Amino acid sequence: MTWSWTIWMDQEAKRSMLRHLVACMPNEGGGLFTGDILSHADQSELFCLRQFHPLKNIAKRKDQYTADRFELVKFVLLTLKKPNMLVATVHSHVDTPPYPSLFDKENIFSYDIPHLIVSFSHDLPRIVAYRYKSSGFYKIIEDTTLSKKELRL
Ligand SMILES: [Zn+2]
Repeated sequence: MTWSWTIWMDQEAKRSMLRHLVACMPNEGGGLFTGDILSHADQSELFCLRQFHPLKNIAKRKDQYTADRFELVKFVLLTLKKPNMLVATVHSHVDTPPYPSLFDKENIFSYDIPHLIVSFSHDLPRIVAYRYKSSGFYKIIEDTTLSKKELRL
């Protein structure tokens, strides 16, 4: 059986996410998306990222992102029910490519939702979405070099 899924992101949510990540620089920034998940009979899933919610970064190192656990738990409890459920996480990489670091892989808090990384290591930021399974991680969506137009925040 194939394991397929796609992401749809609201444009305003994307802008507000980028604005937050840029404001956090030179440190990494992060946050969560709420929205809904549509599952199809063939097991494929569509994650609709409708709203962005910034979270504090409490990492001691500049090149790491660690959500404030208290803030995170509070948020997860508030979003257990539809229609405002937690559907994805995001954090930024300021100087490195959009691939999960060992630290990222070891600190995954959910295997059920995609994790996005926005990298600012090139001229134009790149967004990559990953989903993990306990056996390892799967890279799924690597596309999205953002256009200059999208960066007019
Ligand atoms: Zn990372």
